[in-house]
Amino acid sequence: MPRATPPQARPGAPAGTPVATPAAAPAPAPAAKAANPNLPPLVGPAYVKGPACANPSALGVSRTVLIDTSGGPGFGFEHFKQHDFLKPGEVVLTFDDGPWLGNTPAVLRALEQECVKAIFFSIGKHATYYPDIIKQVYEAGHSVGSHTWSHVDLSKKTPDEQKEEIEKGISAVKAAIGQPIAPFFRFPQLKHPADAVAYLGDRNVAIFSTDLDSFDFRIKKPDQIVKRVMDKLAKHGKGIILMHDFQHGTAQATPMLLAELKKGGYKVVHMVGANGLQSMAQYDAMIAKNEKLPTAGAGRPTSSVVRTIDQ
Ligand SMILES: [Zn+2]
Repeated sequence: MPRATPPQARPGAPAGTPVATPAAAPAPAPAAKAANPNLPPLVGPAYVKGPACANPSALGVSRTVLIDTSGGPGFGFEHFKQHDFLKPGEVVLTFDDGPWLGNTPAVLRALEQECVKAIFFSIGKHATYYPDIIKQVYEAGHSVGSHTWSHVDLSKKTPDEQKEEIEKGISAVKAAIGQPIAPFFRFPQLKHPADAVAYLGDRNVAIFSTDLDSFDFRIKKPDQIVKRVMDKLAKHGKGIILMHDFQHGTAQATPMLLAELKKGGYKVVHMVGANGLQSMAQYDAMIAKNEKLPTAGAGRPTSSVVRTIDQ
């Protein structure tokens, strides 16, 4: 059986670029099956390093791990019994459902203050509402993955509908940040229909569940959110934490949570995709159509443009 298309060579980056290219390209994973020629290959890289840390006593990122997403690995032991790579005391911060006005920038400021990096799973529609905000997330050095186009429960959709939700989500986030996005995906409500899981595997996208669900969308009170996460951490010792930058309570809780993590001696691990995820042209076109573009005659009243002449 022929190998899957190996990851493409990284474009030669001039010295001093903010791209955190590892010293050596990762070895391609053994291919389980031939790559689907109808799906775009991964390209690299999918993240930038972000600005230097300005806070000498910051929590900081203890290590950055490069994820080869060939074949669609699963992370988060709530659903996937794979890849136990975190050491005791290590956490990965993840934020879903943004970008959102006010809350996402507040989360960003808190992360910047402590010089930590996270994964953001953006809803495609929200990325079209606030493209500048999700672009700021990307430029700050966080991994920006996707979380479907409109946050529907994919287990209630046909395989074609699942594909459209996934791809439009990818296209929308890509259009907002202007780069291939991180090859990371989280299912709405952590519902994992088999067809969609298989499709993401063909697409070489990693699927994220969680180890520590904050239930912040239900708790809402910042101090209670922090307590919930820290109690779970005390029990499990490490893990991928699920929160929502969409939620006001989470925006308020994030600085407190980071302070508690620092106090507790926990370490933040940053997960980055070894390669970026390309969008597909047909879904890019759907997103472009979705955006309401200005036209030369935009100032005219509708009554002068549209008149009923026969009824
Ligand atoms: Zn969600």
